[in-house]
Amino acid sequence: MMDAYDPDNIFGKILRGEIPCHRVYEDDDVLAFMDVMPQSSGHTLVVPRTGSRNLLDAHPAVLATTIERVQDIAKAVKKAMNADGIRIAQFNEAVAGQTVFHLHFHIIPMYEGVTLKPHSGDMADNDVLADQAKQIAAAL
Ligand code: 5GP
Repeated sequence: MMDAYDPDNIFGKILRGEIPCHRVYEDDDVLAFMDVMPQSSGHTLVVPRTGSRNLLDAHPAVLATTIERVQDIAKAVKKAMNADGIRIAQFNEAVAGQTVFHLHFHIIPMYEGVTLKPHSGDMADNDVLADQAKQIAAAL
């Protein structure tokens, strides 16, 4: 049995405006923002406003809307960051690599010849993240 959704998680706090983020896009259904420990330049997260622990307990309608936004935002990330490809990642439970227990999709730009940094590695520079968020928002 999976644990229940706990709204007192980092992304719940970001969604409620209790802690800051570098916002890329938002609407009634989702919020997209820069990952503070990016695996590559432009690593963006898409989070549905409706809380679920991960994909396994999410409402199918929430998943459907969220993946449409992931597609739009992934195109904007690719364009703005001039990436050669995009990896979409999504982890369910700690054993699978999940560290924040509010459903989210990773949009990870891939660049020819560039190896990804580790998951949840070094913090990026705030000014760089702010600038990338602006560039991606402008490409939407
Ligand atoms: P997960 O392992 O749960 O799929 O990914 C969580 C992601 O959230 C990681 O890539 C990590 O770098 C990112 N992250 C963790 N804490 C914060 C935070 O406070 N703000 C932002 N913007 N990203 C975070």
